[in-house]
Amino acid sequence: MKTAIRRTRRRRRRGVFDRWDPHSSYSQLALRFRCKRNYKDQYIDGHTVKGDHLEWGTILHNAVRRINAMARDSKDGIGPEDLERVLSSRSLTTFKHFNWYKGGCDGLEKYAELVNQERGTIVALEMPVEIQVPVQVRRRGKMVTKVIKFRSFIDRVDRLRDGRYRFWEYKSYGALRSREEVLQDFQNNTYNAQIRRHFGYHGKIICVYYSILLGKWFEVEFDVKDAIQTERYIADGIKGQLTDKTFEPTFNDRCGDCRLMQTCPEFKKQMSWMDGTVLTASPQMLSEMKAASKIYNERAAKIQMLLATRIDREGPEIIENGWRAFFSHQKGHKVAAFETAPSSTMRIQRVSR
Ligand code: SF4
Repeated sequence: MKTAIRRTRRRRRRGVFDRWDPHSSYSQLALRFRCKRNYKDQYIDGHTVKGDHLEWGTILHNAVRRINAMARDSKDGIGPEDLERVLSSRSLTTFKHFNWYKGGCDGLEKYAELVNQERGTIVALEMPVEIQVPVQVRRRGKMVTKVIKFRSFIDRVDRLRDGRYRFWEYKSYGALRSREEVLQDFQNNTYNAQIRRHFGYHGKIICVYYSILLGKWFEVEFDVKDAIQTERYIADGIKGQLTDKTFEPTFNDRCGDCRLMQTCPEFKKQMSWMDGTVLTASPQMLSEMKAASKIYNERAAKIQMLLATRIDREGPEIIENGWRAFFSHQKGHKVAAFETAPSSTMRIQRVSR
């Protein structure tokens, strides 16, 4: 009698825990900082995440990559027919949210115009960058040096006429950021450090923060000092990945996309005000949820006010439990006159019976 052998597919550990190719990256370090429980789920337990925002981000980035390659490789830059081919690609036209598709097409058209103007400066597209990071870790009671690869993938790198390098940071969704936030963003600082290592360059590096959906952008400048700090931060982050065995959950603004949301005790604790509520798709339920979130936002505003008072008293900054709170002061400047992409908004109103 034949014995049925049941094969179970083992999930593969990823990133720094990958047995055959241990490496770290910006996304691993950022996720670990955001929520260690979610990080463990993805990198140690090997689960993958899916979601409309992630899918849409990948589709838009791929469209930008095609536009970049066409603009660089064709004699006269990207033309209307080339653009039409990109916008009618199956991945874009079959995406489930039509409004997102419409907004995406407008943004990609604007980007195609822009890329044509300066396509001669492009030196690399979809550039893989890897740096070796030595980290001191304890093994069998002794301190040893372990070398970990830290990898990135940079969509576009330019060399300007004045010799400076420039990279592009494409955003497909999310709130637009201030210059200060873009300068502090870990991913941009990572690219700054890696481009220097890769090209052996020590001058200023420009980052173009580009919102694909809005077709708007602005530039910020990084220098070598930022890169040195970032390399230290990366080394500390990787050391934490290799040595820290605590994986407590931390509630954050991406919990809504987390696979563990239904069973996560921290999520339940934070959302306890909704306990016992059965969710139904009704106008009343939506208006109740909006009222609840209004109260939540008001409480957040109150905490912000009290924290501001603390910073005034104890400042100029408060650093505790891995968080830093401070005021950033900028000179008045025009970031851009941002427009919003076309959209439809659902409104709920109470009507008499
Ligand atoms: S639901 Fe939120 S807090 Fe819980 S594991 Fe996921 S990201 Fe972390």
